[in-house]
Amino acid sequence: MSSPFYPPLRTLMGPGPSDVSSRVLAAAARPTIGHLDPLFVCLMDDVKRLLQFAFQTTNELTIPLSAPGSAGMEAAFVNLLEPGDKAIVCQNGVFGGRMKENVERCGGTAVMVQDRWGDPVDPEKVAKAIQTHPDAKILAFVHAETSTGVRSDAETLCGMAKSAGMLSIVDAVTSLAGIDLQVDAWGADVVYSGTQKCLSSLPGIAPITFSSNAVEMIATRKRKVQSWFLDMNLIMGYWGEGAMRAYHHTAPVNAIYALHEALLMLEEEGLKASFARHKANHLVLTEGLSELGLKLAVSEPWRLPQLNAVQIPDGQDDAAIRNALLKEFDLEVGAGLGELAGKQWRIGLMGSSCNTTNINRCLTALEAVLRQ
Ligand SMILES: *Cc1c(COP(=O)(O)O)cnc(C)c1O
Repeated sequence: MSSPFYPPLRTLMGPGPSDVSSRVLAAAARPTIGHLDPLFVCLMDDVKRLLQFAFQTTNELTIPLSAPGSAGMEAAFVNLLEPGDKAIVCQNGVFGGRMKENVERCGGTAVMVQDRWGDPVDPEKVAKAIQTHPDAKILAFVHAETSTGVRSDAETLCGMAKSAGMLSIVDAVTSLAGIDLQVDAWGADVVYSGTQKCLSSLPGIAPITFSSNAVEMIATRKRKVQSWFLDMNLIMGYWGEGAMRAYHHTAPVNAIYALHEALLMLEEEGLKASFARHKANHLVLTEGLSELGLKLAVSEPWRLPQLNAVQIPDGQDDAAIRNALLKEFDLEVGAGLGELAGKQWRIGLMGSSCNTTNINRCLTALEAVLRQ
């Protein structure tokens, strides 16, 4: 016999999902209404407005895709690229590699700009790639590399794309609401995120925004977008402004309630205050980790406050320690990804998880477990 599932109350300090507040969980539990109900349509408009606020943009086409962050990435590439197109892709961790995979599955060519995992994207290497491949249509990079805990200079990279007449695709899954992300001021063209990182809402939705240049590129495609579900020309019919909302797919109604509440909380706190909270708590955590003799893996100017990559001390058993943290302290921290597996832990301070209670719990637990 199966029985209902009651999850334990964990403290989520990994690479996402982050802790979902009781206020957001309560919003998700409100009565389900139809996804074409006029009241739901009003809510959709307010979610779009709040997403524009979070992305710091006036882009009309700013919506939550009904799928996780990975679908945001896929939507960016399948809508902008056509077979035979060239894209410059920066890789300094796991997620840049997924971008390459997306370009190739669209029938495009990915020109790779590689940096060491743990370093930011090097703008000089990007400049060289742009010089050698002026025919590339896209420059794609990850703003906040969750696999390594590194921030790259999105403003500079977007500016370089614009000067070269290319459009930029920016992965902001972990950056949105955690560090400054100025879509309009930086001239970014397609920027996507996720709801389960610094927004601390339910997993499974991908906020995404398109500049007018990106919208024009999509509207003037020679071929249909290869993905029916992620074709923005079709999704616009459902999420587009006013007029007739046409059925495209059933929106995850209750998850949108949750996202709306999480965005309201962000608006109440203010973007600057949210960035400052992430930064301040990151400094408190860093200080505590260094008192435990633990070192951060990323050089200071490029550290993400919301994702702290910590070197595992020699002789410590990675999996055993994370297991003990989970079993004895109900605390989740992230394992290293890809080539950093077994070498680093990733301690998240994202959104609702970013508070001093969590930091104290984490430091106390780490101290106890490391001593064992
Ligand atoms: C988490 C993450 C993704 C993928 O998001 P999912 O919601 O897990 O699909 C993509 N890029 C980055 C940088 C991420 O941190």
